Amino acid sequence: VSSVELTQQFLERIRQEDSKYNSFITVTENQALADAKAADEQRAAGHATPWTGVPFAHKDIFCTNGVLTTCGSRMLENFVPPYDATVTANFRKAGAVCLGKTNMDEFAMGSSTESSFFGATTNPWGLGQGSKRVPGGSSGGSAAAVAARLVPAATATDTGGSIRQPAALCGITGLKPTYGRVSRYGMIAFASSLDQGGTMARTAEDNALMLNVMAGFDPKDSTSIDREVPDYTAALNEPLKGLKIGLPKEYFSDQLSPAMEQQVRDAVKEYEKLGATVKEVSLPNAKLAIAAYYVIAPAEASANLSRFDGVRYGYRCEDPKDLMDLYTRTRAEGFGNEVKRRILVGTYALSAGYFDAYYLKAQKVRRLIQQDFINAFKDVDVLMSPTTPSPAFNQGEKTNDPVTMYLEDVFTIAINLAGIPAMSIPAGFVDGLPVGVQIIGDYFSEARLLNAAHKFQ
Ligand code: GLN
Repeated sequence: VSSVELTQQFLERIRQEDSKYNSFITVTENQALADAKAADEQRAAGHATPWTGVPFAHKDIFCTNGVLTTCGSRMLENFVPPYDATVTANFRKAGAVCLGKTNMDEFAMGSSTESSFFGATTNPWGLGQGSKRVPGGSSGGSAAAVAARLVPAATATDTGGSIRQPAALCGITGLKPTYGRVSRYGMIAFASSLDQGGTMARTAEDNALMLNVMAGFDPKDSTSIDREVPDYTAALNEPLKGLKIGLPKEYFSDQLSPAMEQQVRDAVKEYEKLGATVKEVSLPNAKLAIAAYYVIAPAEASANLSRFDGVRYGYRCEDPKDLMDLYTRTRAEGFGNEVKRRILVGTYALSAGYFDAYYLKAQKVRRLIQQDFINAFKDVDVLMSPTTPSPAFNQGEKTNDPVTMYLEDVFTIAINLAGIPAMSIPAGFVDGLPVGVQIIGDYFSEARLLNAAHKFQ
């Protein structure tokens, strides 16, 4: 098929189906068709990459030149960036066809895609049983769109689980790379020491093809790492014989329902059949991860979000009386409740007198958590765990209880604090809803993770 035909097919699916899911904030129909036409010409001229003419979508956190980029917020309801994020530019260069921008929790803060100014996204799973489930978050729009077959692939970001948790709850495959592997330039900042762009698609192979385009050094991002990018598809079929798998005993505690645990144990058994060996390992400080994250991430967010002042760009309140009124009303009206909560917590944790007790302490805990992983990887090649404590929950179930919402991140967040890569792959069903297994690796082990994921699929 031609790219134009393929693009028309997917646009048609979005038109017909997305009213059920609300997985897109913006659909760029005309641009997509023009890009598809150009891609067909490129291909005819013999200049094709594996991405030439392939449709996909961007999470609405990546700046797209000339295309609305909202980050799920009223603050950026009308923001049209005059430049591309590096990730956006990379897909453009590869000839891929962007169909639009996907829904997300406001400023990527959340685990359910319910905090979006543009309305919640609904998980395609569950609708068949008559329940409206969350797709996870914050990249719930990307995950739902891939799961509903509205796009074959979508970009996403993971600051504290926002690729892996929605991938798990929507039954797809997602990869959060090593911190610094994918450029953050033009990716709207939440918590800069944790933010990392990554991939979502049905299979590990498609994730590998995405990472081939996304990974690489970028002088425009000061924490980007200058290190060779392998071809992530090259090792997909390597045998797993001798792969050493560690099961962190702290991730198989009573918080986990027997049904969830069974799915993970079954997956691990499959790996043993493929020649892997399994042993228990310990991450003694993992239990501190949520507490440390919910100090560090809000602290960084409070600093990053200070740029939204109604002066430079974004939302501005009507008829400000004076400068102070402009600042306060712009921020009161432009930000939603979860974002305000993070700014308050973060500002408090950074304030004089509390800095040492909260922020500095959290940073020390972060180092301990990182050290736990470094120690574990002296013994084993990868770690496996559940991705989430339960399958997709109902919309509205956790919105009034932020702490319960934060507990969604119990298995994913330590990985961000350590900066290591991890994936979530589909691993069966609990109560008719998909669940995921998380595969965690040492720094820059993306190719190994993709290999392990691919052999399971
Ligand atoms: N649940 C995390 C949070 O709310 C997810 C953050 C993320 O990865 N963007 O902070």
